[in-house]
Amino acid sequence: MNNIVLGKPMETWLNEYPLLKDVTHCKPVFWKNPEVGMAKEILPNLPLTFDDILDAEARWKRFASLIKKLFPKVEDGIIESRLVEISDVAKELKKRFGEAFEGPLYLKCDNELPVAGSVKARGGVYEVLKHAEELVINNGLLNITDDYSIMSGPKFREFFSNYSISVGSTGNLGLSIGIMGSALGFKVTVHMSADAKEWKKRLLRERGVNVIEYTSDYSKAVEEGRRLSSQNPMDYFVDDENSKDLFLGYSVAALRLKKQLDDMGINISEDNPINVYIPCGVGGAPGGITFGLKHVFGDNVRCYFAEPSHSPCMLLGLMTGLHDRVSVFDFGLDGRTEADGLAVGRPSKFAGRIVERLVGGIFTVNDDDLYRMLAILKDKEGIKVEPSAAAGLLGIRGKGIHMAWATGGIFVPEDLMDEFYNKGRKLLGEE
Ligand SMILES: *Cc1c(COP(=O)(O)O)cnc(C)c1O
Repeated sequence: MNNIVLGKPMETWLNEYPLLKDVTHCKPVFWKNPEVGMAKEILPNLPLTFDDILDAEARWKRFASLIKKLFPKVEDGIIESRLVEISDVAKELKKRFGEAFEGPLYLKCDNELPVAGSVKARGGVYEVLKHAEELVINNGLLNITDDYSIMSGPKFREFFSNYSISVGSTGNLGLSIGIMGSALGFKVTVHMSADAKEWKKRLLRERGVNVIEYTSDYSKAVEEGRRLSSQNPMDYFVDDENSKDLFLGYSVAALRLKKQLDDMGINISEDNPINVYIPCGVGGAPGGITFGLKHVFGDNVRCYFAEPSHSPCMLLGLMTGLHDRVSVFDFGLDGRTEADGLAVGRPSKFAGRIVERLVGGIFTVNDDDLYRMLAILKDKEGIKVEPSAAAGLLGIRGKGIHMAWATGGIFVPEDLMDEFYNKGRKLLGEE
């Protein structure tokens, strides 16, 4: 590695942040956020409010009739996932990984989210819908009180076909934007980083989405997408590194989760706090969810992010306070991970600034452990997740209710899922 990192000798960095030693050697670490504070002091000073979350939820409701029409499997038109207790997995975590925690363990099954097959069904789909709504309202084609299912008709499809949407992605964001955008009739271009899996590109091309492949990492794909989009006035660029709309789309999960817990008779309180563990890429999804959860549960929720040990961009951004001014490559990391949803070298400044005093900590995980967890989940619960989505299960700690956020999986082709599973089984040494 370079001896000078961002203008400072590595030795100085290590003195200031001793954890960097393990981080730069790709060892799994837990970073406890020293800046975390009380929700009621921090939330009022943020650029987004609880009303923004409610506004997003209201928009989702306006679109429910259209979603139902376009995706009949979503029976009530509300894209949501189940919450399940996974006690056999909890036992296995304690036995095999020596995880020490008390209280029940739940899985939030966003790996099963319809329409996009990942947590991006919250953020990505929401941003496309919001953009579509703005276009039709500004052009006098629809009133906010109309039945939005009329947007599936030919008049609207033709209208949307005059516009395009583009996005840079490691895979799943592209899927969500491509599937929703093309369902409405938009022309969609997805700039895919080198990490993106073949099947995700294939699935998009089948839907008429223009997929441009890059041999470079995610930041480059985004940069190029942003540049090309700025030259086309009819194009709308979904900016994962800065998007307020993606963030708010994710945040609505908190309202839904509250209702799910209420319905299950689970009361969150000071004596029964909830610990939530969410895989993190640029930070939009875990950031938005955390922002929502803090509004709903205050200090009775503690949120932790999970990152691959080879690409812990949010950890570096928050620990050093440099946010998007630091990348994992600056510290000699290679950014290589099978967790394609998390293969991001530079964190979002927007998400990082909002969560810097809300997130309780960040832990990093090795790819091999992701495969092990993925196999355990399938064996014990029959639940299929992609490697990224298993990350939340590896840093569980403390007392209270624990909830790992499974972020993607159902769209993974069967043969590839078998490969993931077999790899996990082998690593578990039980062939
Ligand atoms: C995108 C994604 C994440 C993380 O979301 P960010 O907004 O990039 O932090 C986690 N898991 C999966 C499967 C994803 O696709």
